[in-house]
Order: sequence, then C-alpha cells, then structure tokens
Amino acid sequence: MINRKQFLRTGALGLLPLGWKSFASPKTVTGPKPVVIATWHTVKKATEAAWQVLKDGGYALDAVEVGVKVEEADPNNMTVGYGGRPDRNGNVTLDACIMDERGECGSVAFLQNIKHPISVARKVMEESPHAMIVGEGAKKFAVSQGFETENLLTPEAEKAWKEWLKTSEYKPVINIETHDTIGMLALDADGRISGACTTSGAAWKMEGRVGDSPIIGSGLFIDPKVGAACATGLGEEVIKTAGSHLVVEMMRQGHSPEEACKIATERIIERTPSNKEGIQVGYIALNNEGGYGGYSIQGGFSYVVNNGQGNNVAPAKHLME
Ligand code: ASP
Repeated sequence: MINRKQFLRTGALGLLPLGWKSFASPKTVTGPKPVVIATWHTVKKATEAAWQVLKDGGYALDAVEVGVKVEEADPNNMTVGYGGRPDRNGNVTLDACIMDERGECGSVAFLQNIKHPISVARKVMEESPHAMIVGEGAKKFAVSQGFETENLLTPEAEKAWKEWLKTSEYKPVINIETHDTIGMLALDADGRISGACTTSGAAWKMEGRVGDSPIIGSGLFIDPKVGAACATGLGEEVIKTAGSHLVVEMMRQGHSPEEACKIATERIIERTPSNKEGIQVGYIALNNEGGYGGYSIQGGFSYVVNNGQGNNVAPAKHLME
C-alpha cells in the first residue's frame, strides 16, 4: 500500500497509475456560434431550418425541434417519423428525446400515430412531471396536449415491409438506410446548448423494441457544463455502452469532440471485437465553445454543420478500413 505522500511523489515522477490520464488538462476545441450539427449528409434541409432560428438570436431548443421536425414530416426519409419503415407487424413506432441547456429532458418511445414525436418529447419535459412516457400512455398524453393522430404508414413503407415479409430475415445492414436517425445538437448565440434525437428505429424490429434514440445518455446526452453528444446506428450497441454519456464524459476529461466520439466507438468494438465488421455506430459531439466533431465505426457516416459559414457536409473519420 502506498500512502498519499508516496502517491503524489510517484505522480510527480511520471509513474502515473492507470486512469490518471483521464485527468489530463483540457484541450479546448472552439468554433463560431451559433452552430448546429446533425447526423447524416441527407439532412441539410433540417440544419437549414434550425439555422433560420439560430441566426436571428433564437433559442437552441427551438432550433433543434424545428430542425428535426423537417425530417419527421418527410415521407422520403424512411427512418424517421411519417413514412418510417414499420416493425415486423407493419406498425410504425417512433422514439424521440430532447434535452435543454439546463440538462432537463423529455422522451417518448414506442409511440404510434403521432407525426412529431420530438414535440411530444418536449411536452413531456415541459408539461409533465416525468422524463419519459412510452406506448399507449405516450399517445394519450400527446392527444391530451392537442396532437392529432394519423396513419404514418406510407404506401412505400408498406411495400418495403411486404417485400421484407417474403424472407422475414432480421439482419440490420450497415449504412443501407443511409439517412438514419436524425440527432441534432445546437449552441445558440447566448451559449445555450440543446439536442434532439428522433427515429422510427430499426426496420422490421420486434414489436415493442426500443433503441438508443429516446434513451437519455445513450441516443443523446447534454451536460450543461461540458457539451452535447448524440448517436446513430445499431442502437443495442449504443445502449450497452451508454454511448452519448460516454462521449460527453470524455469531453469533460479534456478530449476534443472528435476524440471523444472516437473513444466511444472504440468502446463498442472493445466489448465485442468479433462484431467489428458488422456494426455501424456514428457519434457527433458539440462542446460549449462551439467545437464539434464526429466519428463512426465504419466508413460512410457523415454529418452536416451550419455555423453561418455554409450548410456543409463533414465526412466523419472511422475506425475500420
Ligand atoms: N439508433 C437507431 C435505433 O437503433 C437507428 C439508427 O440510427 O439507425 O433505433
């Protein structure tokens, strides 16, 4: 056993115990604000809508809600909201969560027949005593808040489901659904940071399956003192590593947003090395200083950045070649 004095002396000699590295001095990456970033290259309309809120001094929370609603309403995006691919029984079931600059949050999961789950998640945060409401309860809550119910299964999604039924093989394929879950993070001109994450989840999932996207700390996490992170890809793996929370903790310990995202992707592969060819997970992160980054396990993941210098796609670096 070494005593405190010996421990300090050992540290001074550079023989630091494992884990000490985590307390390295912060390398702050900064960037202009306001800024909005979002998962996948196909969501430029969403980041543009968010930018319209931010550029005039608007609130980051409004920006991320307005932004992701663009994708929820778009029937051509078959992994989010209206037009999302259904579960194996043909039901479209939606997951979403939202967090604000105080670290307050709201979430809904296994929600059916409501086009904008992100707005219901915001109501959970602002109008209920809870952080998460699911299933029928979430639908009833939405209706009580004035949301209308509607059929979200488009003819295209129904056709794709009937095609899938021919084999009924559940095997999520990496990057096939290239415009997956939208996760969006924004920092406004007043330095308030917010995030939103919304999805129809894995196509052909089992009834009642919920992925990472509505789970605070997995699909999305904000620590007001540090920054924000969100995830896309195989939700089961993100849940098992509390991915977005891990990214934010890595930023707290001094890593840049990109490094923090990289560490979270490595954690997944460390846990299940045999899966490394078959899993895709991508993270994006934004710190309180406007610095941002992203990283994924496989290639093919990108994100969009809008900070007044264009609405640009940034390809993320990745672990696997
Ligand atoms: N992460 C989402 C889920 O597992 C899906 C995705 O981003 O592709 O539900």
